[in-house]
Amino acid sequence: MNPIATKVAVVGAGISGAVCASNLAKNGFSVTIFESARGPGGRMSRRREIAEDGRELYFDHGAPYFSTTNTDVEEMIRGWETRGLVEEWKQNFGSFDFITKKIVNFEKDGLTKKYVGMPGMNSICRALCSEAGVESRFGVMVGSLEWLENKDSWSLKDKDGHDLGVFNGVVTSDKSTFSQRFTQVTGKPPPLDLNSIPGYADIVKDVPVRPCFALMLAFENPLSSMPLKGFSFENSEVLRCAFCESSKPGRSTSSERWVLHSTEKYAESIIAHAGLQKPSNAALTEIAEELFQEFQRTGLDISLPFFKKAHRWGSAFPVTSIARNEKCIWDGQKKLAICGDFCVSPNVEGAILSGFTAASLFSESWQLLYSIRNRKLLYWYDTM
Ligand SMILES: Cc1cc2nc3c(=O)[nH]c(=O)nc-3n(C[C@H](O)[C@H](O)[C@H](O)COP(=O)(O)OP(=O)(O)OC[C@H]3O[C@@H](n4cnc5c(N)ncnc54)[C@H](O)[C@@H]3O)c2cc1C
Repeated sequence: MNPIATKVAVVGAGISGAVCASNLAKNGFSVTIFESARGPGGRMSRRREIAEDGRELYFDHGAPYFSTTNTDVEEMIRGWETRGLVEEWKQNFGSFDFITKKIVNFEKDGLTKKYVGMPGMNSICRALCSEAGVESRFGVMVGSLEWLENKDSWSLKDKDGHDLGVFNGVVTSDKSTFSQRFTQVTGKPPPLDLNSIPGYADIVKDVPVRPCFALMLAFENPLSSMPLKGFSFENSEVLRCAFCESSKPGRSTSSERWVLHSTEKYAESIIAHAGLQKPSNAALTEIAEELFQEFQRTGLDISLPFFKKAHRWGSAFPVTSIARNEKCIWDGQKKLAICGDFCVSPNVEGAILSGFTAASLFSESWQLLYSIRNRKLLYWYDTM
């Protein structure tokens, strides 16, 4: 039961999965992380786009930044800062009211520290997934997680039924791996059948989620009359917030780039009509135009962008937390952990705490098994 000989599969290379994989590897486990997207990051992804003139543009189109009040997470962030993976984003932020057309609240500088990945939000996940002891397999969607009773292990297959290997333990970091939403989107049953794990189906119910559209904009010249680099909007049915991407540390300033987020209400109304299937390019173009027009309705001096593209986040924010105190769901017998922001709180801090806790539970559990086995061995030698 030496952790080095213990293989753990982690499903999902968002921040919860990446933190979990990195901590498991530090504790001596042999970790394979499977991610259905082309690279790591999940909702902390960085998007690469090519403008019509061939210019390369980068956008943090998911979480624009993150904050924390938790001392464990602060300690982790300090470690990432030392490695050059994270920096504080010091700019003017505030709220803009669409009725009065005025800034109603300037955020006091330094009140909440805002951190960004360097040079993109995905950098932390990328670094954690490349650490010693972690094997990363991107572009692989796990389609089934099956418990093999006779082998005390898990068998993993991809979405087409190809074998991905047998593992002593599994961590799954995305709610879609056990929710009906997987079936709504893919037409297939979710990878993990909760009914096969007694007691789980009651705890881990389908987690309701809220959607969001992100709009990526690039302008030839700086929007110099903008009073803030980060806005939250009040009294808009369409826009929730906007951030100046190129004002973050370590980003290219060759063009001014902004990312806007829609309100959940706006996104829900679109999905109610169009369904959960991937939106067409024509639909995304129309949404991009609507969001941009609302941005212009602020009355601020906003020129026409040379690049404008919308992205849909179908499950941007979980509505409930299923393990706020425990921080993850854990089955010690089957060595299965379920982690992610939906366990703790709908933000990066919650996801980090959940992934970290899942790794700690694995380590404690194996230490216990190891010490029981050693005690049995000692007893065996004593009685020889
Ligand atoms: C638009 C937007 C704005 C946000 N703003 C903020 C903010 O300002 N501050 C903040 O703290 N947080 C913010 N968040 C929330 C934050 O991004 C998330 O809470 C956090 O990134 C969640 O991390 P996670 O690891 O739990 O999940 P995810 O990042 O969703 O990771 C799960 C991963 O699992 C993968 N996966 C799923 N199923 C499978 C499968 N079957 N096989 C293989 N891989 C699979 C997915 O592709 C994904 O990469 C925002 C999110 C969005 C979308």
